[in-house]
Amino acid sequence: MDTLLKTPNKLEFLPQLHGFTEKICNLSSRKLQTHQLSLGTRKSYLKRGSGNACIRASSSALLELVPETRKENLEFDLPMHDPSKGLVLDLAVVGGGPAGLAVAQQVSEAGLSVCVIDPFPKLIWPNNYGVWVDEFEAMDLLDCLDTTWSGAVVYIDDKTKKDLARPYGRVNRRQLKSKMLQKCISNGVKFHQAKVIKVIHEETKSLLICSDGITIQASVVLDATGFSRCLVQYDKPYNPGYQVAYGILAEVEEHPFDVDKMLFMDWRDSHLTNNLELKERNSKVPTFLYAMPFSSNRIFLEETSLVARPGLQMEDIQERMVARLRHLGIKVKSIEEDERCVIPMGGPLPVLPQRVVGIGGTAGMVHPSTGYMVARTLAAAPIVANSIVQFLGSDRSLSGNDLSAAVWKDLWPIERRRQREFFCFGMDILLKLDLQATRRFFDAFFDLEPRYWHGFLSSRLFLSDLILFGLSLFYHASNTSRLEIMAKGTLPLLNMVNNLIQDKD
Ligand SMILES: Cc1cc2nc3c(=O)[nH]c(=O)nc-3n(C[C@H](O)[C@H](O)[C@H](O)COP(=O)(O)OP(=O)(O)OC[C@H]3O[C@@H](n4cnc5c(N)ncnc54)[C@H](O)[C@@H]3O)c2cc1C
Repeated sequence: MDTLLKTPNKLEFLPQLHGFTEKICNLSSRKLQTHQLSLGTRKSYLKRGSGNACIRASSSALLELVPETRKENLEFDLPMHDPSKGLVLDLAVVGGGPAGLAVAQQVSEAGLSVCVIDPFPKLIWPNNYGVWVDEFEAMDLLDCLDTTWSGAVVYIDDKTKKDLARPYGRVNRRQLKSKMLQKCISNGVKFHQAKVIKVIHEETKSLLICSDGITIQASVVLDATGFSRCLVQYDKPYNPGYQVAYGILAEVEEHPFDVDKMLFMDWRDSHLTNNLELKERNSKVPTFLYAMPFSSNRIFLEETSLVARPGLQMEDIQERMVARLRHLGIKVKSIEEDERCVIPMGGPLPVLPQRVVGIGGTAGMVHPSTGYMVARTLAAAPIVANSIVQFLGSDRSLSGNDLSAAVWKDLWPIERRRQREFFCFGMDILLKLDLQATRRFFDAFFDLEPRYWHGFLSSRLFLSDLILFGLSLFYHASNTSRLEIMAKGTLPLLNMVNNLIQDKD
């Protein structure tokens, strides 16, 4: 049975990002009547969910279709941690997102004692995750995709369309989380429902202080709190770019997209012809449409700013989306859920090494040029888990700081750090491109041999291949694009080379 939760004060768990507050998507079965999209007067109002969560929303007709915030729990009887026993666990995982559960599941499989601490351990993850099918196939997770498309489409402009022969899928987050929880439970993982507020380290163990006053002791602490970055320390100024997007899963009268293909990027801007001010804004900092058509009248639509610093305002993105949908003749009948996405990209890595171990959003694992992370994190979970098991397992060869240092080294070996440096270089170029330059960039990017663009998007290329990728991109680029890449990329290139030289193993 679906459970309607009291809306938690989600804002307290999420960081303030350049004035944005990340919001978790809303789920509802409420159906509303057909609305012709219009902007109307842009007065803002506070929309209240139960439990005092306040969400700032604009007053467009589109947003009025967004259902009241509801959250859905999985029906699991979770074995709870018993603090009265005063046990020192092998591993405490802080955060039960995809990253945390993946590691908990694998470390417990080796017979180590694990506790997952999360304020909402049974909640179905809110984000609408998309992945390339081959990424999930490689991890034997095809059963965790609820829809797949045989390929994807990119509209560079009104004249140029690219057909990408690479299947794409939407993650069945209920199935993925259920599968992970099931394995955790059968491996003996315990759960504690609270928020961690503080960690105190001793020589061979750490004490986690939770919001309910309980203290949990563990030999290793894994921070998997996503972009909250709850415990992991950073020592450099945090200056990421931001991917900002607004998405809706909607029932529509009709839409113009092929249901066999997902729309990876639509950079067309003909919907802005009658709104010069918006067109001007979009030509400076462009947004594209990302869409997953499930049927002729059910579709996930997301207007996305790939990366900007500072990030775009959510209202700006919503305004662009409304103009685009109207131009495409998409009339939204009802909205099942909406998603406000703010993903920090790039920026410095956390202090390496440090006592608390990290994975996922908290450990700098978002792809700095794309914002994707789920597949990469799930693929890295066995590395972190094996490392913990190896050092904490039978021979107990390491403990405390030494153990954490060894795990961090396995998570961020030099070749991964170099790869990330290259992706950050990619992000620095993307940050400088206006609409026309972005179009030229992706026109060349998707003309590359598949092994290059697949490998780049899925973090499979390492530095030597990335250099070949860069040369190939330059070769495929138009003369104008080459000049742009040279003019805008020289400083980021020098920065990257400097960082690569300084980063020694
Ligand atoms: C809206 C949105 C859409 C995205 N879409 C995609 C996509 O399509 N494809 C893709 O690859 N990536 C996507 N990403 C990026 C990334 O994959 C996700 O953010 C992913 O959820 C990160 O996983 P995680 O496990 O690191 O963190 P999260 O999923 O954020 O999980 C963190 C967990 O930690 C808990 N927590 C937080 N603070 C504490 C605390 N103090 N104590 C205890 N627990 C705590 C939270 O309750 C949460 O359960 C998206 C991100 C967003 C925000």
